[in-house]
Amino acid sequence: MSVTAILALGSNMGDREETLIRGIADLCSHPQISVQNISPVAVTAAVGGPEGQPDFLNLVIQIETDLRPFELLEYTQSVESKHHRTREVHWGPRTLDIDIIEYGNMQMSQTDLTIPHPRAAERAFVLEPWVRMDPSAELQGVPVAELAKKAEDRDGIREIREAPVVCA
Ligand code: ATP
Ligand code: CA
Ligand code: CA
Repeated sequence: MSVTAILALGSNMGDREETLIRGIADLCSHPQISVQNISPVAVTAAVGGPEGQPDFLNLVIQIETDLRPFELLEYTQSVESKHHRTREVHWGPRTLDIDIIEYGNMQMSQTDLTIPHPRAAERAFVLEPWVRMDPSAELQGVPVAELAKKAEDRDGIREIREAPVVCA
């Protein structure tokens, strides 16, 4: 059975735009993932982690998949690794981060996987691209538009760019 899921992608190292595009292309290339929608790109100040990090490019995508949550996590982590993601500094700069924001209406909390993503509801860099992609989106019954308005990092969004065209 296939499920609609929301993934958030971010990059603040290297050729950020190219990395996002190639990361989305890797997701499209999986036979059990179909990318249905891609949000505009938010250029955002890094939240948390070391001072003075480069800005992030952030976007969200909507996919349909019949991968189970841990299979999806394994694949998104393999795509991160392929793009030379390393985990040296907590919340430090990264070439590519892919978070599972929502997976159907699943709720789960395990050591390696919490769904919905526990910090998504307060992150403008996730919520703002999401609501621009899908103005009627809800996260656990709350309109994403409302959550986006309340997010404390709202002012960290410097610019919104057009959605990339990938796997059209
Ligand atoms: P944050 O989760 O606050 O955005 P981060 O993305 O920098 O921080 P990572 O180092 O990328 O954190 O991930 C740490 C671990 O989080 C991963 O190894 C993964 O097992 C776990 N994790 C738990 N829930 C999720 C989720 N919904 N999506 C992706 N990873 C998750
Ligand atoms: Ca993240
Ligand atoms: Ca992550």
